[in-house]
Amino acid sequence: HAQERVFNFAAGPAILPESVLLRAQSELYVWPGSGMSVMEMSHRGKEFKSIIEKAESDLRTLLQIPPEYSVLFLQGGATSQFAALPLNLCAAATDPVDYVVTGSWSDKAFKEAQKFCKPNVVWSGKAEKYTKIPPFGELKQNPDAKYLHICANETIHGVEFKNYPTPKNPNGVLVADMSSNFCSKPVDVSKFGVIYAGAQKNVGPSGVTIVIIRNDLIGHAQGLTPVMFDYKIHAENNSLYNTPPCYGIYMCGLVFEDLLEQGGLVEVEKKNQKKAEILYNAIDGSNGFYKSPVEKSVRSLMNVPFTLEKSELEGEFIKEAAKEKMVQLKGHRSVGGMRASIYNAMPLAGVQKLVAFMKDFQARHA
Ligand code: PLP
Repeated sequence: HAQERVFNFAAGPAILPESVLLRAQSELYVWPGSGMSVMEMSHRGKEFKSIIEKAESDLRTLLQIPPEYSVLFLQGGATSQFAALPLNLCAAATDPVDYVVTGSWSDKAFKEAQKFCKPNVVWSGKAEKYTKIPPFGELKQNPDAKYLHICANETIHGVEFKNYPTPKNPNGVLVADMSSNFCSKPVDVSKFGVIYAGAQKNVGPSGVTIVIIRNDLIGHAQGLTPVMFDYKIHAENNSLYNTPPCYGIYMCGLVFEDLLEQGGLVEVEKKNQKKAEILYNAIDGSNGFYKSPVEKSVRSLMNVPFTLEKSELEGEFIKEAAKEKMVQLKGHRSVGGMRASIYNAMPLAGVQKLVAFMKDFQARHA
């Protein structure tokens, strides 16, 4: 292919596997046997039905999703789920729910929930600049909370849950925003009432939002819930109540196939651990030239924020890296510094190249 690709360290939309892009390219004009592109198909035709069913079945295999859970392919981004969750899981706007606030995304989820129920912050990492995950004993949970919400991986701050808290309410459920570490490692789905994720980091293009929900939680939405936010409507219609993001779902399906071909999420996690280890070792071994603000035990395998001791060199670092075809390394505007997002599709070679560049940059500027 004529045009050279860069290593894209963006937090999202992010890098997709090269093999997936090339396959999509080969099937773009005509999806085999259909005489048309996936973008031109009826979402109710047998071809698209086979595409969405295969995508769901491969995702179920990857995450070993138990049969009593539904998989929904929705739109509106993870941000829509910030509202859909309280609307569906709280029968009344007076219901209490708990939020662990470990970074910007869980904070946004908490703030949106304030419109639809009575959320309570059970722990906040704000005073420590969101560099930690709390010991679960420190969570001040409400024994009546309908759910306990976490963001499994904070994309901006780079903190990741390595295990999961249990709701104090025996009838409550754990809910997780897994947008930025979805399908990056095996997860015991049975521990959760709801898992949701925007696709655009690890599994596909933006426009697809995946919700995995235990069936008994479906069908209790507040009366004013818009039809597009009602899990029951989407579950009953197999995500085909209205026109779904067909092409995006097709792309997710190709990524799921690719992850299965790699040996599934156990193998994928091993690769992600190796990439992250190389990068964190480079940061920690730089005699303070580079620094990771995040507590070691909860460092994200997906999003690696780091700062330069000489912060005046940050612009130069980003400029020089871009010249070497490593792009999108600037940290989020709210935290500054650098951030390397190394999702599933980032090859080991990309991380090795970044680390070699970091060492060289340090040698020239130390
Ligand atoms: N949650 C997390 C952890 C994210 O990283 C993002 C986006 O980056 C969102 C939620 C919001 O997702 P969306 O842009 O799909 O609404």
